[in-house]
Amino acid sequence: METPIEIKEENLIEILDSKYLKQVKKARFEIKNDRKNFWNKNSVNFRNNIKNLISFFKFPEKWNISIVASRFLLDKHTMPYDKDVWSFSDVVGATENQGFDIILFFNKTDLEFLSAPALLPIVVHEVKDNPIKYAKVTVDDELSKKYEEEADGEVRKYSEEFRKENVLEKIMYCYDEEGWKGAKKMAYYLYEEAEYAFGGGYDQQMLKQEYDAFEKAREEKDIDIFIDYFIESIKEEKKEENIEKEEKITPLK
Ligand SMILES: [Zn+2]
Repeated sequence: METPIEIKEENLIEILDSKYLKQVKKARFEIKNDRKNFWNKNSVNFRNNIKNLISFFKFPEKWNISIVASRFLLDKHTMPYDKDVWSFSDVVGATENQGFDIILFFNKTDLEFLSAPALLPIVVHEVKDNPIKYAKVTVDDELSKKYEEEADGEVRKYSEEFRKENVLEKIMYCYDEEGWKGAKKMAYYLYEEAEYAFGGGYDQQMLKQEYDAFEKAREEKDIDIFIDYFIESIKEEKKEENIEKEEKITPLK
Protein backbone atom coordinates (compact mmCIF):
# COMPACT_ATOMS: atom_id res chain seq x y z
CA MET A 1 0.00 0.00 0.00
CA GLU A 2 1.23 3.47 -0.90
CA THR A 3 2.14 5.90 1.85
CA PRO A 4 2.61 9.18 -0.01
CA ILE A 5 2.26 11.39 3.03
CA GLU A 6 4.49 14.18 1.76
CA ILE A 7 2.94 14.56 -1.70
CA LYS A 8 1.87 18.08 -2.57
CA GLU A 9 -1.54 18.68 -4.15
CA GLU A 10 -0.21 19.69 -7.62
CA ASN A 11 2.07 16.68 -7.74
CA LEU A 12 -0.70 14.43 -6.56
CA ILE A 13 -2.79 15.09 -9.68
CA GLU A 14 0.18 14.26 -11.89
CA ILE A 15 1.00 11.12 -9.92
CA LEU A 16 -2.56 9.81 -9.92
CA ASP A 17 -3.06 10.67 -13.60
CA SER A 18 -0.01 8.75 -14.71
CA LYS A 19 -0.56 5.81 -12.35
CA TYR A 20 -4.21 5.26 -13.26
CA LEU A 21 -4.16 6.28 -16.94
CA LYS A 22 -2.06 3.21 -17.68
CA GLN A 23 -4.84 1.10 -16.18
CA VAL A 24 -7.52 2.85 -18.25
CA LYS A 25 -6.00 1.70 -21.51
CA LYS A 26 -5.84 -1.90 -20.32
CA ALA A 27 -9.38 -1.71 -18.93
CA ARG A 28 -10.86 -0.59 -22.27
CA PHE A 29 -9.50 -3.70 -23.98
CA GLU A 30 -10.67 -5.98 -21.18
CA ILE A 31 -14.13 -4.45 -21.44
CA LYS A 32 -14.22 -5.36 -25.09
CA ASN A 33 -12.75 -8.84 -24.77
CA ASP A 34 -13.33 -10.33 -21.32
CA ARG A 35 -15.93 -8.48 -19.29
CA LYS A 36 -16.94 -11.34 -17.04
CA ASN A 37 -13.45 -11.60 -15.66
CA PHE A 38 -13.15 -7.80 -15.56
CA TRP A 39 -16.21 -7.29 -13.31
CA ASN A 40 -15.09 -10.16 -11.12
CA LYS A 41 -11.59 -8.86 -10.67
CA ASN A 42 -12.90 -5.37 -9.87
CA SER A 43 -15.26 -6.56 -7.16
CA VAL A 44 -12.53 -8.70 -5.59
CA ASN A 45 -10.23 -5.64 -5.53
CA PHE A 46 -12.92 -3.13 -4.59
CA ARG A 47 -11.91 -2.64 -0.95
CA ASN A 48 -8.25 -2.25 -1.77
CA ASN A 49 -8.91 0.05 -4.71
CA ILE A 50 -10.91 2.40 -2.48
CA LYS A 51 -8.33 2.21 0.31
CA ASN A 52 -5.42 2.86 -2.06
CA LEU A 53 -7.11 5.83 -3.70
CA ILE A 54 -8.00 7.41 -0.36
CA SER A 55 -4.50 6.84 1.00
CA PHE A 56 -3.20 9.56 -1.36
CA PHE A 57 -5.23 12.30 0.31
CA LYS A 58 -4.50 14.20 3.47
CA PHE A 59 -7.26 15.11 5.88
CA PRO A 60 -7.14 17.93 8.40
CA GLU A 61 -5.36 16.98 11.59
CA LYS A 62 -7.35 15.50 14.49
CA TRP A 63 -10.14 14.18 12.25
CA ASN A 64 -10.76 10.44 12.23
CA ILE A 65 -11.79 9.17 8.83
CA SER A 66 -13.89 6.01 8.79
CA ILE A 67 -14.61 4.35 5.46
CA VAL A 68 -17.72 2.29 4.89
CA ALA A 69 -18.33 0.30 1.74
CA SER A 70 -21.72 -1.34 1.70
CA ARG A 71 -25.25 -1.35 0.32
CA PHE A 72 -28.49 0.10 1.55
CA LEU A 73 -30.86 -2.51 2.93
CA LEU A 74 -33.58 -1.77 0.42
CA ASP A 75 -36.34 -4.32 -0.06
CA LYS A 76 -36.06 -4.11 -3.80
CA HIS A 77 -33.52 -4.91 -6.44
CA THR A 78 -31.52 -1.79 -7.27
CA MET A 79 -29.32 -0.94 -10.22
CA PRO A 80 -26.60 1.71 -10.62
CA TYR A 81 -29.04 4.01 -12.49
CA ASP A 82 -31.57 4.06 -9.62
CA LYS A 83 -31.85 7.34 -7.78
CA ASP A 84 -31.84 5.72 -4.36
CA VAL A 85 -28.24 4.61 -4.84
CA TRP A 86 -25.73 7.15 -3.62
CA SER A 87 -22.49 7.60 -1.75
CA PHE A 88 -21.78 10.35 0.74
CA SER A 89 -19.37 11.91 3.16
CA ASP A 90 -20.63 13.24 6.46
CA VAL A 91 -19.56 14.50 9.83
CA VAL A 92 -20.58 12.37 12.78
CA GLY A 93 -19.09 14.53 15.52
CA ALA A 94 -17.19 17.80 15.54
CA THR A 95 -16.44 18.83 19.12
CA GLU A 96 -13.75 17.82 21.61
CA ASN A 97 -16.32 15.81 23.58
CA GLN A 98 -18.03 14.12 20.67
CA GLY A 99 -14.79 13.56 18.84
CA PHE A 100 -13.95 14.63 15.30
CA ASP A 101 -15.29 11.95 13.01
CA ILE A 102 -15.93 11.86 9.31
CA ILE A 103 -17.56 8.93 7.53
CA LEU A 104 -17.02 8.28 3.85
CA PHE A 105 -19.66 5.90 2.54
CA PHE A 106 -19.20 4.15 -0.81
CA ASN A 107 -22.26 2.41 -2.17
CA LYS A 108 -21.38 -1.02 -3.54
CA THR A 109 -24.49 -1.16 -5.73
CA ASP A 110 -23.13 1.30 -8.28
CA LEU A 111 -19.40 1.07 -7.50
CA GLU A 112 -18.34 -2.47 -6.66
CA PHE A 113 -17.86 -3.58 -10.28
CA LEU A 114 -15.79 -0.52 -11.24
CA SER A 115 -12.03 -0.55 -11.84
CA ALA A 116 -9.72 1.71 -9.83
CA PRO A 117 -9.50 4.43 -12.53
CA ALA A 118 -13.30 4.49 -12.82
CA LEU A 119 -13.53 4.85 -9.03
CA LEU A 120 -11.10 7.77 -8.98
CA PRO A 121 -13.67 10.53 -9.76
CA ILE A 122 -15.99 9.19 -7.04
CA VAL A 123 -13.24 9.04 -4.43
CA VAL A 124 -11.96 12.54 -5.29
CA HIS A 125 -15.51 13.90 -5.10
CA GLU A 126 -16.25 12.37 -1.71
CA VAL A 127 -12.87 13.23 -0.21
CA LYS A 128 -13.21 16.83 -1.44
CA ASP A 129 -16.88 17.13 -0.56
CA ASN A 130 -15.95 19.27 2.38
CA PRO A 131 -17.84 17.28 4.98
CA ILE A 132 -16.63 19.61 7.72
CA LYS A 133 -19.07 22.24 6.45
CA TYR A 134 -21.68 19.61 5.72
CA ALA A 135 -23.66 19.87 8.91
CA LYS A 136 -25.21 23.09 7.51
CA VAL A 137 -25.73 21.75 4.02
CA THR A 138 -28.44 19.23 4.83
CA VAL A 139 -30.99 22.01 5.32
CA ASP A 140 -29.66 24.43 2.70
CA ASP A 141 -30.07 23.50 -0.99
CA GLU A 142 -28.07 26.45 -2.30
CA LEU A 143 -25.11 25.69 -0.06
CA SER A 144 -25.32 22.02 -0.97
CA LYS A 145 -25.21 22.90 -4.68
CA LYS A 146 -22.19 25.14 -4.11
CA TYR A 147 -20.24 22.43 -2.32
CA GLU A 148 -21.13 19.83 -4.95
CA GLU A 149 -19.80 22.23 -7.61
CA GLU A 150 -16.58 22.63 -5.65
CA ALA A 151 -16.18 18.87 -5.23
CA ASP A 152 -16.67 18.24 -8.95
CA GLY A 153 -14.26 21.11 -9.65
CA GLU A 154 -11.66 19.01 -7.85
CA VAL A 155 -12.53 15.98 -9.97
CA ARG A 156 -12.06 18.06 -13.14
CA LYS A 157 -8.41 18.67 -12.24
CA TYR A 158 -7.70 15.03 -13.09
CA SER A 159 -7.71 13.44 -16.53
CA GLU A 160 -11.05 13.33 -18.38
CA GLU A 161 -10.34 9.67 -19.07
CA PHE A 162 -11.38 8.73 -15.53
CA ARG A 163 -14.84 10.23 -15.98
CA LYS A 164 -15.11 8.51 -19.35
CA GLU A 165 -14.01 5.20 -17.85
CA ASN A 166 -16.67 5.54 -15.18
CA VAL A 167 -19.34 6.18 -17.85
CA LEU A 168 -18.21 3.26 -20.02
CA GLU A 169 -18.03 0.77 -17.15
CA LYS A 170 -21.40 1.74 -15.65
CA ILE A 171 -23.18 1.44 -18.99
CA MET A 172 -21.47 -1.82 -19.89
CA TYR A 173 -22.28 -3.31 -16.49
CA CYS A 174 -25.97 -2.48 -16.97
CA TYR A 175 -25.78 -3.88 -20.51
CA ASP A 176 -24.42 -7.19 -19.19
CA GLU A 177 -27.06 -7.31 -16.44
CA GLU A 178 -30.14 -6.15 -18.35
CA GLY A 179 -29.25 -5.77 -22.01
CA TRP A 180 -30.04 -2.65 -24.05
CA LYS A 181 -32.89 -1.68 -21.72
CA GLY A 182 -30.59 -1.36 -18.68
CA ALA A 183 -27.79 0.21 -20.70
CA LYS A 184 -30.19 2.82 -22.07
CA LYS A 185 -31.42 3.71 -18.56
CA MET A 186 -27.85 4.11 -17.32
CA ALA A 187 -26.83 6.21 -20.33
CA TYR A 188 -29.89 8.44 -20.00
CA TYR A 189 -29.22 8.94 -16.29
CA LEU A 190 -25.57 9.89 -16.87
CA TYR A 191 -26.33 12.12 -19.86
CA GLU A 192 -29.51 13.87 -18.76
CA GLU A 193 -30.20 13.45 -15.08
CA ALA A 194 -27.07 13.07 -12.95
CA GLU A 195 -26.10 16.75 -12.96
CA TYR A 196 -29.44 17.76 -11.44
CA ALA A 197 -29.86 14.85 -9.04
CA PHE A 198 -29.98 15.34 -5.25
CA GLY A 199 -30.32 19.12 -5.51
CA GLY A 200 -27.83 19.46 -8.37
CA GLY A 201 -24.50 21.21 -8.63
CA TYR A 202 -22.79 18.31 -10.40
CA ASP A 203 -20.99 18.22 -13.72
CA GLN A 204 -22.68 16.56 -16.65
CA GLN A 205 -21.50 12.95 -16.35
CA MET A 206 -21.78 11.87 -19.99
CA LEU A 207 -21.08 14.18 -22.91
CA LYS A 208 -23.15 14.48 -26.07
CA GLN A 209 -20.68 12.77 -28.40
CA GLU A 210 -20.48 9.81 -25.99
CA TYR A 211 -24.27 9.60 -25.83
CA ASP A 212 -24.42 9.79 -29.63
CA ALA A 213 -21.96 6.88 -29.85
CA PHE A 214 -24.24 4.92 -27.53
CA GLU A 215 -27.34 5.73 -29.61
CA LYS A 216 -25.55 4.68 -32.79
CA ALA A 217 -24.57 1.36 -31.19
CA ARG A 218 -28.16 0.87 -30.01
CA GLU A 219 -29.64 1.58 -33.43
CA GLU A 220 -27.22 -0.85 -35.06
CA LYS A 221 -27.59 -3.34 -32.18
CA ASP A 222 -23.80 -3.57 -31.86
CA ILE A 223 -22.40 -2.61 -28.46
CA ASP A 224 -18.84 -2.82 -29.80
CA ILE A 225 -19.47 0.47 -31.62
CA PHE A 226 -19.84 2.11 -28.21
CA ILE A 227 -16.78 0.39 -26.70
CA ASP A 228 -14.67 1.19 -29.77
CA TYR A 229 -15.52 4.86 -29.40
CA PHE A 230 -13.74 4.82 -26.02
CA ILE A 231 -10.84 2.69 -27.26
CA GLU A 232 -10.28 5.13 -30.13
CA SER A 233 -10.59 8.14 -27.85
CA ILE A 234 -7.79 6.98 -25.56
CA LYS A 235 -5.50 6.39 -28.53
CA GLU A 236 -6.03 10.06 -29.39
CA GLU A 237 -5.76 11.12 -25.78
CA LYS A 238 -2.10 12.11 -26.00
CA LYS A 239 -2.59 14.20 -29.14
CA GLU A 240 -5.57 16.05 -27.78
CA GLU A 241 -4.34 16.50 -24.25
CA ASN A 242 -4.00 20.27 -24.56
CA ILE A 243 -7.35 20.78 -26.22
CA GLU A 244 -9.04 18.66 -23.58
CA LYS A 245 -7.45 20.61 -20.76
CA GLU A 246 -9.07 23.75 -22.19
CA GLU A 247 -12.42 22.04 -22.62
CA LYS A 248 -12.35 20.97 -19.03
CA ILE A 249 -12.45 24.48 -17.68
CA THR A 250 -15.28 25.54 -20.00
CA PRO A 251 -18.72 25.16 -18.40
CA LEU A 252 -20.63 22.30 -19.97
CA LYS A 253 -23.81 24.20 -20.66
ZN1 LIG B 1 -21.16 15.34 -3.14
